[in-house]
Amino acid sequence: MDDLFAAVFDELVDRDEDRLLLLEEIRTLLPGISVAIVKEEGQVVGDLPGACSETLDLLVTEARASSAMISAHNSSGEWSYALCLTPPDVMVFSLPGYEGDICLTPLVAQMCTNTFRLALAHNEKNEALLESEQLHRQIGVLKKQHARLIDDNHDQYVLLQQKEKEYAKELEDEIERQTKELRETNQQLEDASRLKSEFLANMSHELRTPMNAIIGFSGLLLDAKLEAEQYDFVQTISKAADSLLVLINDILDLAKIESGKLDLASDIIELSSLARSVSEMLAAQATSRGNKISVEVDASLPKLVVGDEVRLRQILINLVGNALKFTENGSVNIALKRGDGEGKEQLVFEVRDTGIGIPAHRLDAIFEKFTQADGSTTRKYGGTGLGLSICCQLVELMAGRIAVESAEGVGSVFRCIIPLTEVSAEAQDAMAAATSTASGAVDENAISIKVLLVEDNLVNQKLAKLLIQRQGCEVDVASDGLEAIEQLKNKKIDLVLMDLQMPNMDGLQATRRIREIEGNDVERGKYASLQGREVRIPIIGLTASARKEDEDSCYDAGMDDFLSKPIIKDKFAATLNSYRKRATP
Ligand code: ADP
Repeated sequence: MDDLFAAVFDELVDRDEDRLLLLEEIRTLLPGISVAIVKEEGQVVGDLPGACSETLDLLVTEARASSAMISAHNSSGEWSYALCLTPPDVMVFSLPGYEGDICLTPLVAQMCTNTFRLALAHNEKNEALLESEQLHRQIGVLKKQHARLIDDNHDQYVLLQQKEKEYAKELEDEIERQTKELRETNQQLEDASRLKSEFLANMSHELRTPMNAIIGFSGLLLDAKLEAEQYDFVQTISKAADSLLVLINDILDLAKIESGKLDLASDIIELSSLARSVSEMLAAQATSRGNKISVEVDASLPKLVVGDEVRLRQILINLVGNALKFTENGSVNIALKRGDGEGKEQLVFEVRDTGIGIPAHRLDAIFEKFTQADGSTTRKYGGTGLGLSICCQLVELMAGRIAVESAEGVGSVFRCIIPLTEVSAEAQDAMAAATSTASGAVDENAISIKVLLVEDNLVNQKLAKLLIQRQGCEVDVASDGLEAIEQLKNKKIDLVLMDLQMPNMDGLQATRRIREIEGNDVERGKYASLQGREVRIPIIGLTASARKEDEDSCYDAGMDDFLSKPIIKDKFAATLNSYRKRATP
């Protein structure tokens, strides 16, 4: 910008030049005149006329004070004059050859004044022309500067655009690189997660198979006639096996939740019977520690809601189990209610105890994995510190939250708050119809049915056989799928209990084959167990692989039900019983 101003103003005209030009002009108009200009500070421009050297100060002072022409003469009688047309400049002049004072001849004085004015006008015109020229020059310079600025701007714009493009390209490359890296990492994580889940599935299978034998046979032994000491030993084995199973289940649950593989079911749940069944299940534990257990269900709650019954029961068992574990000679209350205020559409499960309580500074920590309120808890009460962490994650999966209030020595309240989904009237009717036909209660009048147990493991064969016989049913055994199909041909079987993993032909293949035979009239006629039936032969999957995927693949292959190992005696009996009842005319 400084350059610009310098270019515009460096041509400015010197004011003394102007004065000299004016004097020149006057001399042209009045030839022979001797004239100079006295500036404000007394400096003189031009040659001072000799006639006024003595009287200069007087002339200048008076001329500045008056608009008229001032005259004075020197000691030689020569006249000189002063006129102030452009204050503070004063023009002083003499007219050599002219005798006397021209001011006394108004016409001459006027003529001189007019001539000066004319010269001034000429001069101003010239100045205006000069100024106009200068303006044109300035405009030219400004235009050039403007053009240069525009060029500069354009260059900068192009440069910026180029830089932007380069930057965008760099960013794109970086994003592409990072996306590739993320994809690779993701793939590695997915592979690792898949391997982990496969490992867990295998481990689960491997652990559950022997657990099945331990729990099953110790359960059967407890029913046998034993001496007191033997009974005590078996009971210890049975309890230890139960605890081990809880631990295995907890670890598998946690792994399932953490790998995002736990899908929640949408069952229709009868709230009060859920709460009461948990209380009944833990009643013996409550009594053994001198605790009273009670259940309250808020009347404003719907009778039926939609949710994952197994998981809700698991949460409740965990909370009530803890409450009983940490309370002695006290009380534990299970309350089911609606949320307050805006939480009307929320279901609140509250488990309140009068036990040891939890120190305030440990209230958050107890929801972390493998964490207990204090170090001596394991020694005194056992446990792994996994239960609450699982509850917390399950409740979060249900879009809910879990909270605790506690005071040491007074007791604790655990509260699960989850969204409440009521069951429609039609679904309630359907449910009522289903429960009337699917009761698991043992019916002594139901006919005995013949069960085909398809199982390769000899220990499991023995256990399941005993359990089936105890339900008053006949049992035949096949050790793989091929043998099972052969037996269906030759014998009249009413129900198949099918293991999944077996040599020669596994349970899924065998089920698909059986359903295929049933779908073909000619083939079906050759199978004693399949011909003449109104409905397809019931097949119940029986496996130590307890994953949801395994359960789904059982149904996909054509099975009607699914039981996981270790076999829970009551559930096994109830399932068998429901099919036995259906077979009863
Ligand atoms: P575990 O009971 O197997 O140790 P949890 O995750 O269920 O694991 O519980 C973690 C800890 O929280 C317990 O060890 C105990 O210290 C504390 N806790 C849980 N529930 C209660 C309760 N009702 N009263 C007192 N302490 C409790």
